Amino acid sequence: MKIAIIGGGAAGCFAAIETARLLPRADIHIYESLKRPLVKVGLTGGGRCNLTNSFRHVTSAEQVYPRGARLMKRLLKEFGPADTMAWFEREGVELVTQTDECVFPATQKASTIVDTLTRLLAALHVKLHCARRVKAIVATEAGYRLSMADGGDVEAQAVVVTTGGYPREASMSLFRPLALKTVPPVPSLFSFTLADDRLKALSGTVVEQVTARLTTTKFKATGALLITHMGLSGPAILKLSAYAARHLHDSGYRATLSINWWGEATEDDILATLRSHAAPRSARQTGTTTPSHLCRRLWHYLLDAAHIAPHRRWSELQPKELRRLAALLSNHQLSLTGRNPYKEEFVTCGGIALSEIVPSTLESRAHRHLYFAGEALDVDAVTGGFNLQAAWSMGYVVARSLSRALADANDNAANANEACPMD
Ligand SMILES: Cc1cc2nc3c(=O)[nH]c(=O)nc-3n(C[C@H](O)[C@H](O)[C@H](O)COP(=O)(O)OP(=O)(O)OC[C@H]3O[C@@H](n4cnc5c(N)ncnc54)[C@H](O)[C@@H]3O)c2cc1C
Repeated sequence: MKIAIIGGGAAGCFAAIETARLLPRADIHIYESLKRPLVKVGLTGGGRCNLTNSFRHVTSAEQVYPRGARLMKRLLKEFGPADTMAWFEREGVELVTQTDECVFPATQKASTIVDTLTRLLAALHVKLHCARRVKAIVATEAGYRLSMADGGDVEAQAVVVTTGGYPREASMSLFRPLALKTVPPVPSLFSFTLADDRLKALSGTVVEQVTARLTTTKFKATGALLITHMGLSGPAILKLSAYAARHLHDSGYRATLSINWWGEATEDDILATLRSHAAPRSARQTGTTTPSHLCRRLWHYLLDAAHIAPHRRWSELQPKELRRLAALLSNHQLSLTGRNPYKEEFVTCGGIALSEIVPSTLESRAHRHLYFAGEALDVDAVTGGFNLQAAWSMGYVVARSLSRALADANDNAANANEACPMD
């Protein structure tokens, strides 16, 4: 039985390895459009490959998977982060978990992960066809016909689609003959561009804990914030960009952003903190007594935004001025004017609609022996190793489903032969 895996990325290679282990006699082929497999994995984590996360601070799948949380909750039970770590360690890859719970190879090199997977593909006799792009997948009576961009067709009884994210809608054209429902692809994980030049002049400033929100929506995220020469970035902004990826795309990346510079404190909490900060310092200038979590330059910028001159003494401030400062610190509104990439990292929100697949097997509901794994599906995560974890989990589940389905198919064929010995 021939199994064709379309895409030699994280999910495709992992699915191939696991399938080859479960079905040692299967004829497994990977068709990859680039000249080498796992090119993107080699770029992950800034070349260090953040291959998973301990999930220690993850309280719900929704927190890290803005799309596909329900599916991921189920799949993580089958193959979760501890399984990923054990899997790579069994293959001789030493791992380190950073204080932020991101997991990397101890070599700090993504090539360690690429080399490990490539070595296993060869050892398990998976046939890798690079520089072979699949143009279309057509269902036939015997299974599937893959029409290749370089000409010629490939026949297979089972197909696993692991073509990754789709920066452009045109990249989804290979599914057209299958009439599958797709969700239009839009980017996720990006930094925000702002018009405020004075804020941008503070480029490089980090605030450990803010809450970033899009006004008039339910989208909000907490975490560290980084001021850049273009606007804002850092974990809180990247998370917000992922949660609100489609909303921001639809609004042309124009929105009003609200920053709470005091994390999750309310305006009243901040007012109380300002009062207790001011009381022992009443004779000092507001600009010289900076709250501990904000740097002096940012504090001056915020005082200015609240129309308070930094030479004014705390004792000179009217109650309504203190209230205005607390209001600004808890809800500082800034105009978002666009998006810009976060390093080179991006993921796609959108892909094959989850309604098209059986969640427990990742098999197509409409087409037997057609499976999907990885970013090809409408599943994506925030940064921190969660996207690659999704690729490993799905690759693992597809391999199990495939081996069960093909074993059943073989049993049925054997039974049919027994029933009709003359055939
Ligand atoms: C720069 C960068 C850094 C990242 N860093 C991290 C990180 O540190 N941690 C993390 O968890 N996530 C990270 N991500 C996200 C993560 O890399 C992806 O979510 C993950 O690789 C998805 O795996 P996949 O197998 O679904 O897709 P991919 O790894 O993208 O693989 C898909 C493969 O399919 C091939 N393909 C596509 N169409 C066809 C076709 N028609 N025919 C044949 N082949 C085809 C592509 O060439 C590609 O090799 C990063 C992403 C980027 C871009």
